[in-house]
Amino acid sequence: MTDEMPEHLEADKSRLLDSIDSRHEGLDIEQVNYFLGSYGLKPRESVIFYDEDIDQLKEVLPEDRSFQTFLDDARGRRCGAYFPRYQTSLLRRPREYEATNGPVVTEGFLVHELSHSTSELASYKITDLGDEIGISVPRCGQNVSGEGKSWGNFFEEGFAEMMRAEYVKTFQGEAERVKLLTRLGKPSESTLDASIPSSYRDLTYYIPLKYAYITPDNNNVQISVTTMAGMGLELICKKEPRLWNALISARKEMSGLREVPKIINGLKSGLYTDLRALGYSREDFSDGYKKIVDSLFDGKLSLNDQGDINI
Ligand SMILES: [Zn+2]
Repeated sequence: MTDEMPEHLEADKSRLLDSIDSRHEGLDIEQVNYFLGSYGLKPRESVIFYDEDIDQLKEVLPEDRSFQTFLDDARGRRCGAYFPRYQTSLLRRPREYEATNGPVVTEGFLVHELSHSTSELASYKITDLGDEIGISVPRCGQNVSGEGKSWGNFFEEGFAEMMRAEYVKTFQGEAERVKLLTRLGKPSESTLDASIPSSYRDLTYYIPLKYAYITPDNNNVQISVTTMAGMGLELICKKEPRLWNALISARKEMSGLREVPKIINGLKSGLYTDLRALGYSREDFSDGYKKIVDSLFDGKLSLNDQGDINI
């Protein structure tokens, strides 16, 4: 294991960063970095691209299959990813979502990806495979992967989503905030902590509006695949506020990484282990959310008059 990025990956990273001019126009990137920095977090580099940049980006790393697949999937879709190998986030800039939500929606998606990049405990594992050398990055924040499996998605995605929601709540423009609230029939003086009931499978969820955005056709309110992990982790933090500090400290200190399971298992024995085993899908994150509500909130959360979560 080494903390240093291998030289040839450094070269790949430089080519990636130089390949296109990151599409920053109209975005407040300084504010995004300031926001993460205010928690003592150090975001790494990113490339923000439009659909028309995809072909050019694909030429940079033709051998990297996961990079190629990401770019193929990104075309025309709301999409972002952090690549620990290159310590770089990639984000497709969704013009269509900005039209209805303002630039804060893109800045929020960037905060999510950059939050993954704040893991300072990421080391390179070098494996001699005979003909070639295999290089992997087993840990990214709360997420650990190896031999085709991965653990801790719920915590890593939940952390990034909580940061995104907090950013949106703090920096959402007044006009966009009123538009979202009006669209949902909420009083315009409500904050983005107000929530709306929503259902998925046979469960009802209360989604704080800081996690929500309006779809491009302006008719629907949407959340991300990972949002339920964010909502679930936020609920545990409400139950035990020490968890938030441990999650922040876990980005750079081993002691923080050890503290997270202690705190969660301290609330309910085995809860950390159950959540850690969950995979990366809306079903998994929904299962995790339900487990938290069942084990820490007697199976229910109620809404008060303002539509805020009342626990
Ligand atoms: Zn993520």
